[in-house]
Amino acid sequence: MFKVAVFSSKSYDKKFLSRYEKQYGICLDFFEHRLTTGSVQLAQGYDAICVFVNDELNSQVLTQLASYNIRTIALRCAGYNNVDITTAAKLKFSIARVPEYSPQAVAEHAVGLMLTLSRKFHKAYNRVKEDNFALDGLLGFNLYQKTVGVIGTGHIGKALCQILQGFSCQIIAYDPTPNTDLITTGVQYKPLDTVLNQADIISLHCPLTPTTQHLINEDTIAKMKNDVMLINTSRGGLIDTHAIISALKNQRIGYLGLDVYELESELFFEDKSDEIIQDDDFQRLLTFPNVMITGHQGFFTQEALDTIASTTLDNLSLLLNKQPCHNLCQLLK
Ligand code: NAD
Repeated sequence: MFKVAVFSSKSYDKKFLSRYEKQYGICLDFFEHRLTTGSVQLAQGYDAICVFVNDELNSQVLTQLASYNIRTIALRCAGYNNVDITTAAKLKFSIARVPEYSPQAVAEHAVGLMLTLSRKFHKAYNRVKEDNFALDGLLGFNLYQKTVGVIGTGHIGKALCQILQGFSCQIIAYDPTPNTDLITTGVQYKPLDTVLNQADIISLHCPLTPTTQHLINEDTIAKMKNDVMLINTSRGGLIDTHAIISALKNQRIGYLGLDVYELESELFFEDKSDEIIQDDDFQRLLTFPNVMITGHQGFFTQEALDTIASTTLDNLSLLLNKQPCHNLCQLLK
């Protein structure tokens, strides 16, 4: 029976992944540790490892894994910006991901952030708990007929367009590879600058790559409408945190909804409530009344976790049995 070390595992990972262990004849050992150069030795003696978004698959970790004869990695996520793909290709790793588990889970979360910010649910919740039923300060705006700019119209961006069409939003989009199905439903593709310039709400759904790193920066923010709403459920590195803090301070950005953060690996998925957070930029973001942050929970629905678990075990079984797997990450040759 193949043995797999599961890193960054939480009780919910164990619950969902264990459902499929027997069916695939794979033995999973769960480690709470995040995979780093400091914890990689835990992988010794295993046939493969299974990792999540903030595990580090840098050159040092991959070289160490290769020295343990491990060449198989299953990612429990879609994005693989945490993998040094050049080293992975050089060392002949096979790395599989879960390309599409529930685009609706993340798209619905993005809409949740939009509605929270537009209708100030985060403030209303606290007010009503304190028996304060005054409405001053809670004035919102309709999503109806607003122009939403969707950057990246792959699985999640497409699901978002479909939901927002139900709100009668006008959808404009930028993607180097436009989706023809969406065009027939009325989504209009435009150059990135036009999307930035015309949208009342901008939602990011492209992957984090060297070209998209800090896609939202001082220059691109300057092209946006005053008071724009910006939503990021994709990857934190798409936004230059310092630029966004300045834009919130000078009120160029009207609303910011984040499910991801540039330096989230030091914070997210852990209970830090008894600690002093050292990240001053993150703490500054939390002080703005028009900022809503969730801790990378867009994927966190029962449906998504079940699909992630079954696809991950399927990927592991195919790779370990040297069979073709459709979910391999594209590695640099
Ligand atoms: P996808 O691969 O289906 O779609 C990505 C789209 O982005 C593609 O259509 C691609 O052409 C486009 N794209 C590439 N470069 C671009 C650029 N420079 N500008 C605009 N578009 C560009 O991916 P997906 O499943 O829709 O996921 C999107 C991202 O969401 C993932 O990369 C991941 O980082 C993130 N994600 C977050 C969560 C969460 O829990 N918050 C969960 C899953 C995925």
